[in-house]
Amino acid sequence: MVRRRGTILVLATGGTIAGVGEQGNIAGYRPGRLTADELLKEIPNIEDVAPIETVQICNVNSDDITADIWLQLAAIINRESKDDNVKGFVITHGTDTLEETAYFLNLTVKTKKSVIITGAMRPATAISADGPMNLYQAVCAAAAPETEGQGVLAVFADRIYTARSVTKTSTYQLTAISAGRMGAIGVIRDGKVYLYETTFKTHTHKSEFDVSRLDKLPSVSILYFHVDASAEFLKFAIEHSDGIVIAGAGAGEVSLEYGKIIESADVPVVISSRVDDGLITEDMLLFEGTIAANNLSPQKAAVLLRLALTVTKDKEHIANMFAKY
Ligand code: ASP
Repeated sequence: MVRRRGTILVLATGGTIAGVGEQGNIAGYRPGRLTADELLKEIPNIEDVAPIETVQICNVNSDDITADIWLQLAAIINRESKDDNVKGFVITHGTDTLEETAYFLNLTVKTKKSVIITGAMRPATAISADGPMNLYQAVCAAAAPETEGQGVLAVFADRIYTARSVTKTSTYQLTAISAGRMGAIGVIRDGKVYLYETTFKTHTHKSEFDVSRLDKLPSVSILYFHVDASAEFLKFAIEHSDGIVIAGAGAGEVSLEYGKIIESADVPVVISSRVDDGLITEDMLLFEGTIAANNLSPQKAAVLLRLALTVTKDKEHIANMFAKY
């Protein structure tokens, strides 16, 4: 079958948007039950926006997303974006780890075509489920010329976010997917995209990360520092990981005992903060040989460190990547 011009590929992975529970209820549902085609049936006239093709990548709670699924998504987008008849992509995803998948794809897909990720906070069977509107808006955003060349974007509850800034900020609100203090770069109303800002950070076709020949990613562990945090856990993590991200207290701080272990680690250690607005710059680093996460959250820093380790183990080189991406 020949593809129609302007086709949007919907790549479905599961999450609450595909969740099913007791009719009307918000909690106690099972994520990842409905298929992409079933989700689209709830949006009348979606084919008036653009021709749509669906690919069911998996149907999981997003806490079960793996690097293997990331590599599959990147491979499909990299392959299908070469087709002139494809205008863009929409990924449906659980909200728990949506930000990690968004940032991974932002650094690994080699296209200027629109790539939009979305999800929902209420299962499809809830009263006023938010999935159909989010999916509709995501398809409209993917079909819009404004979203081309902007990197991977998240569309959620009328707003548009960059993959680098997007994060989950609430465990229950409909606006849970947002960008904290960084804010949205645009809005979407009745299918019309209004973009106001763009990112300065390197992404997609300009990114150096090539995952096309990889079947797995380096392993990175995040250690969340707290009062009396176990030094044994930290040592274990260092021994069993290719890299470490520390979610430090305040400005990336940890105990003296923790700090000593960090300084003698033979794998790269990135310092981020457990604080919501947690900027860590190079001049704030307290421990020799560590790398500043800048304003990346621990989970985003882990994504970048995994990709950085596919290129180099050199700390200075990795530090440059944290400044660039
Ligand atoms: N646990 C769900 C998930 O991430 C939450 C959601 O999608 O809102 O898959």
